[in-house]
Amino acid sequence: MIETGDFDFENRLVSPREIETDTRNEDVDFSIRPKTLSEYVGQKRVKENLSVYIEAAKRRGDVLDHVLLYGPPGLGKTTLSQIIANEMGVNIRITSGPSIKKPGDLAAILTNLEEGDVLFIDEIHRLDSSVEEILYPALEDFVLDIIWGKGAAANSVRLDLKPFTLVGATTRSGQLTAPLRDRFGVIARLELYTPDELCDIITRSATILGIACDREGAMELAKRSRGTPRIANRFLKRVRDFAEVEGDGIITKDIVDLALERMEVDSLGLDKMDKRLLEMLIKGYNGGPVGLETLASAIGEEAITLEDVCEPYLMQLGFIARTPRGRCATDLAYAHLGFKREGNGHNNDEQMTFE
Ligand code: ADP
Repeated sequence: MIETGDFDFENRLVSPREIETDTRNEDVDFSIRPKTLSEYVGQKRVKENLSVYIEAAKRRGDVLDHVLLYGPPGLGKTTLSQIIANEMGVNIRITSGPSIKKPGDLAAILTNLEEGDVLFIDEIHRLDSSVEEILYPALEDFVLDIIWGKGAAANSVRLDLKPFTLVGATTRSGQLTAPLRDRFGVIARLELYTPDELCDIITRSATILGIACDREGAMELAKRSRGTPRIANRFLKRVRDFAEVEGDGIITKDIVDLALERMEVDSLGLDKMDKRLLEMLIKGYNGGPVGLETLASAIGEEAITLEDVCEPYLMQLGFIARTPRGRCATDLAYAHLGFKREGNGHNNDEQMTFE
């Protein structure tokens, strides 16, 4: 029997997206957010390149080129945009694709920017096409074309904007239109973090929040945080409660084991929903290949959610492979869930990729 029922993919404890409890205490959230490139853990190549571009722009007295950050949720795109503004010594205005509903909304934002300011647009792939169109000249020539009226009676006026830097963030760079993508001078992909990097992030956050956490405890949390700092920080806050109530206040490996078992998160950070997905793939489709849409509808989820929220980590673990004919479960997934592959397995003749 494959477990069914109502699962709330968005608000699960291992969601890489922000969940309601993450921002309950804004001061805590602010205090653990890195403010400078040197405090920002991992993403070595992105950091090195950005520091060169920032330094060069500052020396020339120029504004920084537009930056596109892409990668799964919770990896630090918003944080990095704030760091860019901080390192450049400018203000930042944070907004998102879906919240800019019409061209006038964007015009109002753009005309209020000061010279050199950073405009951060999260989920930039979700900008309406009418909004995107007025963004092009703004990005290229720092001008705004305002048109009113229709047809032969239409009038237009061109407004100069103060030069600014757009930092766009997206989980799906493939959905960006080519003209928008082409207007970014810097394109950086953020990768899932290694357990060592997450261990450093957890240790840093624990120090700032005054939480006692030994190295083994931090490492165990790191291994279960699915390569994602947002999840690591969330776990740290939850496990602290267990350490205080069930232990002597210190987060040790034993406390992490106990807490995450109670929270139904396994040794690799998988929860019931990951297991349901893998079980469906293994038992429902004999290990695949199966198309993402089919798999998503079989477990009652949207394909986009599976692709953004579940797959990156399952692929990093090497549990799911993408083949030309669909998703396959690998031997590692069978072994982790304790299933035996029947026959030779379906995906032996498939070319597998894990990216
Ligand atoms: P995204 O915008 O990619 O969804 P955020 O920038 O909001 O992610 O980061 C989520 C949380 O993870 C933040 O609270 C931040 O403190 C933490 N974080 C992200 N990246 C790092 C990093 N490289 N080092 C330390 N903490 C990080």
